Amino acid sequence: MLYPLSYGRSLKEGIGRGSRIRTCDPLLPKQMRYQTAPCPARVRKAGILFGRGRPVENRALSGPETVCENPPPRVGLRAPVTAKILDGKAVAQQIRDELKGRVARVRERLGRSPALSIVLVGDDPASAVYVRNKLKTAEEAGMGIAHERLPATATLAATLEVVRRFNQDPSIDGILVQSPLPKAMGADAEQQVFDTIDPGKDVDGFSPISAGRLVQNREGFAPCTPAGVIELLVRSKIPIEGKHAVVIGRSDIVGKPMASLLLHKNATVTICHSRTRDLPAMAREADILVAAIGRPAFVTRDYVKPGAVVIDVGINSVTSPEDARRIFASHPDRLETFERRGSVLVGDVHPDVVEVAGALTPVPGGVGPLTIAMLMANTVKAAELRGR
Ligand code: NDP
Repeated sequence: MLYPLSYGRSLKEGIGRGSRIRTCDPLLPKQMRYQTAPCPARVRKAGILFGRGRPVENRALSGPETVCENPPPRVGLRAPVTAKILDGKAVAQQIRDELKGRVARVRERLGRSPALSIVLVGDDPASAVYVRNKLKTAEEAGMGIAHERLPATATLAATLEVVRRFNQDPSIDGILVQSPLPKAMGADAEQQVFDTIDPGKDVDGFSPISAGRLVQNREGFAPCTPAGVIELLVRSKIPIEGKHAVVIGRSDIVGKPMASLLLHKNATVTICHSRTRDLPAMAREADILVAAIGRPAFVTRDYVKPGAVVIDVGINSVTSPEDARRIFASHPDRLETFERRGSVLVGDVHPDVVEVAGALTPVPGGVGPLTIAMLMANTVKAAELRGR
């Protein structure tokens, strides 16, 4: 971050708040603070140690000026929030409430509730938590559930056998096989599972049939996470049509379907990935920026056009105290959570982006709850489509 230095001039007159002299007081309005934050190099020149800086030529100013590359640390200070926080929990609740009537109508028509089956293979603790949450939400929504748990030593053939059984079971509407599968099953195990799931019960939307239907904008099951993002944008009244959406990440379960869904809403879409050149510049073009990378706090302020809508899909657990202090320097409440629990969740977006973005999804409480809500919605839809 370069700080234009009107402040350099005022520094000559001293440091501290005065008639024409401003400090980097974080309580000042952001613009004043950034345009007048003390330049470390200037400060050093003035004989006061503050931080690092380097003299550069600033063409915007009349002569050579000193600009600061490194803002002064703001440890322990709460970042000023400019972004509207998009409440994924509230929208997810709204979606689940709306499903109640549909669940009741399915019950009337089929004589049973929509039913979801979940297959969990192995003992990955995160997967166990995800499955527990999905089962709990389905139960609360009045749905039928079937849970099949296989040991980590289970073969791919055994897993496919369970999937085939659920395919043939007329009392099951949706099938979900929790990712990741144990590595020992082989690199293409998930692909084989997705190929085997009956497309009519593919409530995760990962089968090639579902993917093809999505690309062609036909009726089918869209993957829950990107579908949830669209619900969040639409219900938050964020315009999509004509906007430039940049999606960072091109996985089959988030990045690619996200791009398709945004395209179908008439956004102009750019997909970025690990080989994209000058990613920050590309991301700064976005009116809507979606980060689905899997790297904690990767998307910093430099990636975000002021006022952009930023959707943080990432869920990462920070367990190192150094990382926690670095990432949450301006967020003492999150540091406090870390101290208490020994870990804290962070998305792919740096929490300081809240100072730049126009709207932002929090982690936790943003995209995560929507993923589960959309799984419920897909299951109800699968039940509704049965026999039609
Ligand atoms: P994947 O690992 O499958 O994909 C990550 C993508 O990010 C890849 O396309 C990869 O590019 C790209 N990427 C990785 N590093 C960089 C980099 N340095 N610069 C640019 N692009 C990069 O992850 P998923 O799509 O499955 O998940 C992404 C995140 O979303 C994870 O944090 C995951 O936990 C979270 N998630 C959250 C869900 C929710 O409910 N909120 C649901 C699903 C996922 P390349 O293709 O070139 O390797």
